[in-house]
Order: sequence, then structure tokens, then C-alpha cells
Amino acid sequence: MISLRPSLSALALCLASSASAATLYHGGTLLTLASGQDAPIERGYLLVADDGRIAALGAGDGTNDPAVIAARSASGFVHADVSGRILLPGFVSGHSHLWQSVFRGITPAAELPAWLQGLHYTYGPHFAAGDFAAFTRHGAYDQLRHGVTTTYNHSHAFGRDFERYREQFTAELTTPQRFVFAWVNDASADDATWVTRLEAVMAQVQPRADRPLLGLSINAVGIHRGQAILVREIAVAKKLSLTVQVHYLEPSASKVEDRAAWPRFKEAGGLFSGMSFAHFIHTDDTILREAAAAGAAMIWNPLSNGRLASGLPQIENYLAAGLRVGMGVDGQASADISDPFENVRLGLYALRIRRENAGGLQPVDVLRLHTLKTAEVLGVQRWVGSLEVGKFADFLVVDPGEPGTGPVWDAAATIVFACSSRNVSSVVIGGKKVVESGRVLDHDAVALETDVRARVAAIRARQAAARPATPSH
Ligand SMILES: [Zn+2]
Repeated sequence: MISLRPSLSALALCLASSASAATLYHGGTLLTLASGQDAPIERGYLLVADDGRIAALGAGDGTNDPAVIAARSASGFVHADVSGRILLPGFVSGHSHLWQSVFRGITPAAELPAWLQGLHYTYGPHFAAGDFAAFTRHGAYDQLRHGVTTTYNHSHAFGRDFERYREQFTAELTTPQRFVFAWVNDASADDATWVTRLEAVMAQVQPRADRPLLGLSINAVGIHRGQAILVREIAVAKKLSLTVQVHYLEPSASKVEDRAAWPRFKEAGGLFSGMSFAHFIHTDDTILREAAAAGAAMIWNPLSNGRLASGLPQIENYLAAGLRVGMGVDGQASADISDPFENVRLGLYALRIRRENAGGLQPVDVLRLHTLKTAEVLGVQRWVGSLEVGKFADFLVVDPGEPGTGPVWDAAATIVFACSSRNVSSVVIGGKKVVESGRVLDHDAVALETDVRARVAAIRARQAAARPATPSH
């Protein structure tokens, strides 16, 4: 394909991969997604300081901006001409299970319970040392390629091997993707052990533009496994000032029983502003009203909810009721392409199909749900989720011209209706370019792919060997 753009601009973008020099992106359209700022800034500028944060942005070329003037005089200053492209904050996934990345396409005819049986309970017991680490890295790099710069990794424990479990955390420290780690308790550990482990991780939470770890949370499982566990989980979260996330009201088949469990959250002290419910599809009026009044939140996962036939939450009603809503791409075994562009498009279309009316949520609204609003639910909006001065320079450079989508009439609509992650020309985290044209820089994707295929083959062999022999007659 012949590029119509001047080669100097390509050179500038190439140089912009360095985070050490201040970089001025100019000429592009900025979709900041900051609160109250729905209109795009046409032909704007965005200055990334050498500390990896956004130092200035606005309309025009920044010539008269004191921050730009100061930066220009420093050595190594870089210009990046992004004419014709759209800059928007990196997507934030409020609910994901990164290890599932190597189980795509599994149990295609299953709803949640059979899917869990076919994945977690069938293969989970056969994970070996290093599997969680390799699979988690596979998932993180996959999300990065698609433009998810921050993820909430809702970890899982299979068995009681703590070191093996912890690979999900340590693996993420080795990729550029920012993350909040949702810790699941090993039920065999006592409270003191649990708190000690959590505090050790909390000590590592020191957000900086060049560090991936943003925070810690708790994946509470007690609503499914017993009230005593739920009470412990909520108590520990509150003691350590951590957020909590729970899978709740996901499959349609058990919605009556699941709704009946609602009072247990109240009894455990689980209705508070740190609580987010993943999926939260089959609510009733009481549940919605009480969740909203408590300042709780939900994470909407359209791709996963479609794949597993879980259902479509009443997002417009939730927002009208004051419930905080974020979005997630979930694990790649239930949303098999972790493409946030597809996630917002499918979600918005599904709501419109049900309403038979296009007057509800608009493209800019779903983009904000999947960025700033999700960051707020995760408690990391100080650093990520919108293009604002002081935040980390985590953003996507989207090229509506590659693949070609025609002229841009409305930047947010072009992103949501007409673009996919194939249009992401670069992903920038902390001012450093980490993805270029779908390829993660400084990462050997072929080696990782080879490794995970061998690991999954070994898991399947161990699972088959452990299966009781079928009687021959
Ligand atoms: Zn999930």
C-alpha cells in the first residue's frame, strides 16, 4: 500500500516511541473524554512531558502555550504530526480474566454454568508451574494490541498452590499494560495470612507513568461459596481500603435464586462505594435502587454477555437511577476477541435494537463508559481514563484512513461505528509507544504463541490421562 503521508511524519511517530523526551502531538483530532467535554478538539495538540504525563493540550498547534514553549527549548524535543488521526484515551477494561486468552472458542454452545464446567473445572486442576504466567502475558499483550491500556485482572485460584496462583500478578508486572489486580482468597489461608499477602502486594502499589501496577482489589467469591467467606472478604477489603468486585446476576437460568441472595450483600456490609458487580444483568427494582443508593457500580461486558447468552442489562435505566457503570471485555474465553471497539459497538447496537430508538446513549457516551467511567469504578481516574493535564499519557492514535473508512463526519461516531482495533496505528502508555500497527514492540509474540500452545497441549494431555477410563462394555 502506498502511503500518502509525508515520510517525515512517520519518522516523527517513530521517534515518539521514546518516553525520555517531551513530545508534541499536533494536527490530529482529540477526543479527551473528560467529564463534560463531548465535542472533539479538531486540529489540536497534546504535549507529553518527559515524565510520561500529559503536560498540556488544546486547540491549535500550541505555539502560544507556555508549557509547549518551555518544552521546545529542551533538548530532544520531538514533534509528531498526527494529522488525519484521532487521539483518544486508552480503553480501560473493568473486568477481565487474562489467563483465559488461550482458551478461545472453547465450549461454543454453552451458557455460563456449562462453560465454567468445560473450562475452569475441566482444565484448571491440570495447570502446571508457569502456565498462569504465560497465559496471563498472552492475555495482556492481546488486550494491548486492541487498545486496552488498563485492565482489571480478576484472578482465579485453581488448587492451593499459592506460588502458582501468584504468577498471574507477577506476569503482569512484565508487560507494559497497566493493571489493577483483583485478588481472590485461597480459602485454606487464615485471615492473618491473607492480610499479610495483600499488604505485601499493596506495598508495590506506587503508580508512576512508567509502572504498570495501578492498584489492588478483591475478587469476592463468598456470594457463591458461603456467607462466612463473603463477610471475611468485605471486612478485609474495608480494613485495607480496597475495592471489591463480584460476579453477580450473570446467567439467566439462575436469576431467581441469584436475586434471592441480594440481602446477603447487605448483611455482609457489601453495599458500599467500593463494590462493583460484574455483569449485574437480571436486577429488579429493589436491587437497582439499593445498589445505586449505596454508590456501588456495575461492569457491563457486552461481548461476553452475548457469547454466553447471559442477557442485556438495562443500562439506560441503571444510569438514570444513578448507578455507576463501567465496561469490560471480560476474559478472552467468553469474549474471544478483546476488541473494545467491538465491545462498545455491540453494546450500543444491542441497546438500540431493544429500544427501537436511537435517542439514548450516543457514541461518545459508550466511549466514556469504557474509559473514564471504568477508571472511576476502579478508583484509578487520577492517573488514567481521559486526556487531561496531569494524567499519564496513555492514549491511542487511531487512523480512520487505514483501513480506509472515508471522511470523518463525527469523530466519536467514526470511532464507535466505523473503526475497529485494526485502525489503531499506535498505542502509547506513559508517553512511550508500545504498539505499532497491531504489533507489540519489544515483544516476541511468536515465541509466546509457541510456548502457550505447548502448555495447553500438555494440560489437555494431563487432563485426558487423569480422566477415569471409560468402561469398554
Ligand atoms: Zn468474569
